[in-house]
Amino acid sequence: MSHDFKPQANSLSNKIIMVTGAGDGIGREAALQYAKLGATVILLGRTTEKLENVYDEIEALGAPQPAIIPVNLLHMSPEQAQQIAETIETEFGRLDGLLHNASQLGDLSPIETYDIETWQNVMQVNVNATFLLTRFLIPMLRVAPAASVIFTSSGVGNKGRAYWGAYSVSKFATEGLAEVLADELENTSVRVNIINPGATRTNMRAKAYPAENANNLKTPEALMPLYSYLMDDASQSVTGQRFNG
Ligand code: NDP
Repeated sequence: MSHDFKPQANSLSNKIIMVTGAGDGIGREAALQYAKLGATVILLGRTTEKLENVYDEIEALGAPQPAIIPVNLLHMSPEQAQQIAETIETEFGRLDGLLHNASQLGDLSPIETYDIETWQNVMQVNVNATFLLTRFLIPMLRVAPAASVIFTSSGVGNKGRAYWGAYSVSKFATEGLAEVLADELENTSVRVNIINPGATRTNMRAKAYPAENANNLKTPEALMPLYSYLMDDASQSVTGQRFNG
């Protein structure tokens, strides 16, 4: 059902959906897909030029005009997260979807010699900034009639593997955050789920596996039935679940 989901035309129209890391890779594809299905997409990411390119692609599709929030999650403060939530409240009054997708890979290196600053940066982007955004956006999600929050994990997010260091630990934390939140919001209109995309043809994958032939990997586009399903009202009763891409 979720993996061969075929969304109806305009199934996300009238929905306001934020995608973090929307400038590249899986996030870019998801933003384009949600826009094609009629959503107003809020593109959050760190490289303004990439966000502007996605913005232009969405405009060229004739989809609803997106919004851009250029922000480096490495420097995300509580005040900034609150400011983003206030902007969304002023502009849109609610948030129907939140795809936590932006992440840093950090180094592939043993814990014994793991670079300390890199560790802290990965935890800041992948965990702390995700928590801050979530914390301040929950009130906006509660206002929506049926809101969906998706957290992005990894194959090393519930089974540790040598040398995956901060990335693996941050994905365990991401899954923990998602499970705690899903439980807290169980009887509300906000659902919370986890996607592990699996090996996908992106810059991050190429950094982790530089010698691999990327042509053998699935494309971000191939994940879109699942990403669409979890934003669609078809998954309204689905919460606290983990999906593999
Ligand atoms: P990419 O590196 O291709 O894209 C990540 C996006 O996140 C980029 O647009 C990047 O911005 C943005 N981003 C990174 N750091 C920050 C930051 N500090 N502030 C704001 N934005 C930031 O990765 P993928 O598309 O491969 O990964 C998407 C998600 O899927 C991640 O959560 C990843 O962990 C997960 N995943 C991916 C797998 C794969 O095989 N690709 C496998 C398992 C999980 P910029 O473009 O400016 O760098």
